[in-house]
Amino acid sequence: MQELPELDIYRSMLAERFAGAELTALHIKQNKLTNLSSDQIIEEINGKTVWFVERRAQHLVFHLDNGKRLVIQISNQSYLYSHTPSEQYDISKAAITLQFGDRMLSVFGLRADDLQLMTVKAVEVYMKAFGSDPLDKRLTLNRFIEKFSKKRSSLKTALMDQTIIAGIGTVYSDEIAFAAGIRPDTKLTELNSTRWEQLYTAMGNVLREAISHGGAGLNPLFANDILTGGYSERFKVFDREGLTCTCCGETIVKITVGNRKAFACPKCQSIDE
Ligand SMILES: [Zn+2]
Repeated sequence: MQELPELDIYRSMLAERFAGAELTALHIKQNKLTNLSSDQIIEEINGKTVWFVERRAQHLVFHLDNGKRLVIQISNQSYLYSHTPSEQYDISKAAITLQFGDRMLSVFGLRADDLQLMTVKAVEVYMKAFGSDPLDKRLTLNRFIEKFSKKRSSLKTALMDQTIIAGIGTVYSDEIAFAAGIRPDTKLTELNSTRWEQLYTAMGNVLREAISHGGAGLNPLFANDILTGGYSERFKVFDREGLTCTCCGETIVKITVGNRKAFACPKCQSIDE
């Protein structure tokens, strides 16, 4: 899983390790990964310094000192690993490897067009296709409700709609619904103002708590990375079918929402008070 908390963990750890570092090489091992030719992208980034790393929706954005942005889309099957040659880490299956002197950053599991080199303006145009960041301070409760006002879908489906808010997938939609005390298959039209407020508060709390515990990523970013994945043992409902709810003792169930599976506690999550 690679949702907002996992990308935020990547962002902070990459910024810590690579802000101010000079890109000395880029190895692109798959065709059609980029919006430009591999040679063009390599020529444009060679010798450039990374100012900092930003998270935008499902992307990591490397700000370069030539004003360009290297944008990498991280989907569910993608992951990153940072290493040095002496570690002899197998990068034969990496889609790309960024080299910073003797330090390398390999990205695995990229698909077509997941790597793009863009101008600042092009990034802003591109990002218009994605919804608000759930942790953006400008996303107030009223704006949050407003964004969903025309939607009639179920809660889980709506939370996962990347055009409304970006960064929540199948894992955190279940955890947020649990924290809000609402079943994930509840129709948005059934939510009253109290429920909307519970949902909004739960979204911020769950995502921030997940970030503070390292998210739920399966792959460490580097050797001795003890932060990544720490939140997965704190899941309340996701992938816990048949296990006991830590809040009420009821058994967690798996249900279907749209065509997706969802996990919920039959007692803690309801719609009618
Ligand atoms: Zn419960």
